[in-house]
Amino acid sequence: MNKYWSELAKRLDPYVPGEQPKDRKYIKLNTNENPYGPSPKVLEAIRDCTDERLKLYPDPTCDMLLSAAAEYYGLKKEQIFAGNGSDEILAFAFMAFFDPDRTILFPDITYTFYPVYTSLFNLDYKLVKVTDDFGIPEEEFYNSPGGVIIANPNAPTGKFMSVSSIKRILDNNLSNVVIVDEAYIDFGGESAVKLVDKYPNLLVVHTFSKSRSLAGMRIGFAIGNSELIEALNRVKNSFNSYTLDRLAIVAGTEAFKDNGYFEETRNKVISTRERVTVELCKLGFSISESVANFIFARHNTIKALDMFRELRARGILVRYFKKQRIDNLLRISIGSDEEMDVFLAEVGDIVREN
Ligand code: PMP
Repeated sequence: MNKYWSELAKRLDPYVPGEQPKDRKYIKLNTNENPYGPSPKVLEAIRDCTDERLKLYPDPTCDMLLSAAAEYYGLKKEQIFAGNGSDEILAFAFMAFFDPDRTILFPDITYTFYPVYTSLFNLDYKLVKVTDDFGIPEEEFYNSPGGVIIANPNAPTGKFMSVSSIKRILDNNLSNVVIVDEAYIDFGGESAVKLVDKYPNLLVVHTFSKSRSLAGMRIGFAIGNSELIEALNRVKNSFNSYTLDRLAIVAGTEAFKDNGYFEETRNKVISTRERVTVELCKLGFSISESVANFIFARHNTIKALDMFRELRARGILVRYFKKQRIDNLLRISIGSDEEMDVFLAEVGDIVREN
């Protein structure tokens, strides 16, 4: 703490992102990045626009990107908002739709950025306890005093809630906004985007960091009723009009167009996840079904923290959360088949040595 800090800066409890270590080369299975890299067409488009035009500000409306998004989703441009990663969009959405005197609801086990935003924006929240097998009790989200945010599939559990459950939560929150954070939706879940025309209180948030392999470009989208999108634009234009740079706008536009690469790589991740799940079960892990690009696993005898440390010493990073209810589980991102074979071999050694 420093005497020059504002009261706001003092009370913050910032988010801690997963490690991006520089000391040696690791197999990185800790931040849910995509192992396959961006589409070659995206890389080519970025190279083609890396020239003197960078002296000019980017289009603050991201018109080209929103047109590509509108075509992809079959919606109007006015129903889509583009942001500098979905984290930024979530921050804007918390500002645009939640008020300090109205408690919002989210699950006790979920993306740890949500409570961070509540402290930044001075919001009140109540945690809804997920079941022991990480199910989200739908009825507990009915009639929230001030709004709802749910990650679906949830993180770090990978558990999916059906679109019909989301629909019932929306029906029972007609005076609140329900944000559905679908960061991992492309790895097997069913998107709630199809509901946006019917529900003026639904905001769906997507990212290009996972299934499009563009975490380094920072591109995310919010999809919803045009009046919700207008509120996001009001917040954005009171903060920074140029949240997406020129390269990100081009990269995102191209990524929407290269559907073939998107389908091929996400299917590879899904089939690797299924194979690794079976192999880990043979090695003594219990794993609940995941529809994300990671699995959340508990070993039947070896403690998660011990396994985490052993793997790290062998050059493999996974994610360990020192948090009540989940401190004996590891979140393992799905890498390439080669990476996962090394991972499985090391886990096998650790299990035999313990
Ligand atoms: N939502 C969830 C549930 C996430 O796990 C992440 C990734 N950390 C994000 C949003 C943010 O993704 P990005 O800012 O890279 O779009």
